[in-house]
Amino acid sequence: MTTLTGMNFIAGSPSARGASTFTSVNPRNKQAGGVAFTNATADEIHRAVISAAEAFEQTRHYPASRLADFLERVADEINGLGDELLQTADMETALGLPRLTGERGRTTGQLQAFARLLREGSYVEAIIDTALPDRQPAPRPDIRRMLFPIGPVAVFSASNFPFAFAVCGGDTASAWAAGCPVIVKAHPGHPATSELFAIAVNRAVEASDFPKGWFSLVQGNTIEVGQMLVQHPRLAAVGFTGSLRGGRALFDSAARRETPIPVYAEMGSINPSVILPGAIEARAESLAEGLVASATLGSGQFCTNPGLVLLLQNDQSAAFIHTVKDKMAARPVGVLLNAAIESGLEHVVAQTQSREAVHTLTGGIVPESESYCYANTVLQTTGAAFISDSLLQTEHFGPVTLFVVCQSEEELLRCVFALHGNLTATIHAENHEQALAATIYGGLREKAGRLIWNGFPTGVEVVHAQQHGGPYPATTAPATTSVGLTAIKRFLRPVAFQNMPDGLLPQALQNANPLGIWRTVNNELTRERISL
Ligand code: NAP
Repeated sequence: MTTLTGMNFIAGSPSARGASTFTSVNPRNKQAGGVAFTNATADEIHRAVISAAEAFEQTRHYPASRLADFLERVADEINGLGDELLQTADMETALGLPRLTGERGRTTGQLQAFARLLREGSYVEAIIDTALPDRQPAPRPDIRRMLFPIGPVAVFSASNFPFAFAVCGGDTASAWAAGCPVIVKAHPGHPATSELFAIAVNRAVEASDFPKGWFSLVQGNTIEVGQMLVQHPRLAAVGFTGSLRGGRALFDSAARRETPIPVYAEMGSINPSVILPGAIEARAESLAEGLVASATLGSGQFCTNPGLVLLLQNDQSAAFIHTVKDKMAARPVGVLLNAAIESGLEHVVAQTQSREAVHTLTGGIVPESESYCYANTVLQTTGAAFISDSLLQTEHFGPVTLFVVCQSEEELLRCVFALHGNLTATIHAENHEQALAATIYGGLREKAGRLIWNGFPTGVEVVHAQQHGGPYPATTAPATTSVGLTAIKRFLRPVAFQNMPDGLLPQALQNANPLGIWRTVNNELTRERISL
């Protein structure tokens, strides 16, 4: 077993200069862990960012293949941590070994996928418009554009994904792939897991002969640690997954800097599902089973949890809601990640329940439980109430589903138009309902980043085509994604070169195309060299 230090890792070196400490807590029995983790100080954060900025001076010149080798090495080092990583994370999150084993595979898999993207090379989006010297009334210059790394990035780990959205998760992998050094603010819910990851990364940094400032880990359970990080003048961008309150605070903080920087925050989402009558008529039982499985997966602690279901009022819908209620009540109550998530959930559900038009069908607080938890809960309201009361769009981060029963198709559409921004939106329907589904999708497309047909939103594939984002308040940057390979674009900045001599151009833009990558040359996608 690794002996954990409880320290921060600043450019490869353990450091614990702060006076205040915290421990992790086992959510299953609320017992504190044995290691005291030290809150990072202003000086440690300063050293981490300065070291990252110095590292960037070297790494921004590294070829993509060298970055790819590093990402693969990190994946190997994570696997090298073995079962200790799984057991430590399970103790800190209670997510269970099967789920954590899968999440580890996703985490190493996304590092390897970014490595392949780098080797293929066209992620730099080389676009070349050659000169038109004879154009009238004025000649057109030669313009060539590509993407370059933005600089040091701060990544805020999520509580609910201790691997895939944490120290070596999607934000970090995409920032590294872009060529950016990363300073991770560990989530205070899993500091020991974070330290293990830091050990693995430091081994990879050493083995790959990268500058030590390429990676730092700062621990903290106070908002000051995150705020100091985001305020540091040498930081270039922020990746965040967590609450609307936290993401918005960091976004505002970054905007107030003398030099504002982008904050890519992925925050709350209620993930509306519209269920049309034909789907209920054809397969009520399997639909109810699928919905309940998705809503209770990971104790409902997914940003893609289906928290809102819209349907039309009729006898079959009423029976369907009843079936879902029974299935939710019959499922064992899961463990929540930490005290803050439990108390936050209790607060927001109570707020929703305080509305006159909201009825609780099952669930609620579990009194005097040994673990952090909240009963699987089903709430119901009307379309009219939903349209008029935006508080009913509050995310309940846990195993909670709100049914909205609409009197007519017109009211259902008005509910769709009233929706705030979301990560996903789903329609369950039969093929003969496609005309109505098309109208509803027309509205949903304005509200969500991923549209799903007859499926469930939990489970986000890491592929090129993935879009895990959406209009505010789902994210602060709706034009980007935090899952999938185009996530790299958040940490790349375009630069155009005008009439630059070939020898001064980066290889990706040179006439001979020495990297052999796909480029858009005079509006055509090609790997050919340019003969002028
Ligand atoms: P969180 O409270 O937003 O915290 C996430 C990280 O941001 C932590 O490291 C936290 O640091 C930091 N932070 C929060 N507020 C900050 C501020 N004002 N200034 C600087 N740093 C700040 O998220 P969480 O602990 O993961 O869970 C709380 C809620 O977030 C959940 O109930 C849920 O609603 C939502 N959530 C959403 C997702 C998603 O995927 N969208 C995932 C997880 C959670 P400290 O804790 O050290 O202060």
